Amino acid sequence: MRTPRRDDPDYQAARQRMVEHQLAARDITDQRVLAAMAAVPRELFVPDSLRHQAYTDGPLPIGEGQTISQPYIVAFMAQALDLAPQDRVLEVGTGSGYGAAVLALMAAEVITIERHRTLAERARATLREAGIENVTVITGDGSRGYSEKAPYDGIIVTAGGPRIPDSLRKQLASGGRLVMPVGSSRTLQTLVRLRRTESGFQEEPLVAVRFVPLVGKEGWGD
Ligand code: SAH
Repeated sequence: MRTPRRDDPDYQAARQRMVEHQLAARDITDQRVLAAMAAVPRELFVPDSLRHQAYTDGPLPIGEGQTISQPYIVAFMAQALDLAPQDRVLEVGTGSGYGAAVLALMAAEVITIERHRTLAERARATLREAGIENVTVITGDGSRGYSEKAPYDGIIVTAGGPRIPDSLRKQLASGGRLVMPVGSSRTLQTLVRLRRTESGFQEEPLVAVRFVPLVGKEGWGD
């Protein structure tokens, strides 16, 4: 099979259709989210053998038993984070690096942490190939956050845990937003948004979701 190039017009057209039919036609209204999703070449972030499926309306396997999330979920979470251009963001669960790439176009800096070294290395290479320079990929247990660069204006967790880790609450800036799938089962969660205000935390359930488990000290354990 022919190896497609980054600016392949077929992919650009598929990406535009994805933005219209899967995002704008549903409830994604934030223009910054739609612009970022229209700009990031998702085909670079999926395995070669699945490139032709890069713009389908669902998750895809990326190795190590993990998945790149459905485009709509990536957009929904990015919209829920309500980012401003000067914001600094922590992502827990780098996976393919696609979500980090989308956030990188909406914020000043993204720190993303992945427990699988092979995935972290591949994501680093893909982000470089995509020309994205404001993302730092760390290998480690993100259930404890990454205190070295805290506080964060936005924290996004792309794996499901039993509760919001205390470490992540502590690393959220005043006025900051955290979005995470939380549930008492390892496979079914509610996407929750937490806001930190001067007087404390406000928590709000958003939608039912299915994510891979958050494996780690403040997740489901190792
Ligand atoms: N945002 C990703 C989706 C990745 S799926 C993308 O756009 O492709 C969730 C990822 O979280 C998996 O790669 C999994 O290995 C990772 N993960 C699970 N528990 C983790 C933890 N405690 N710390 C860091 N990464 C974790």
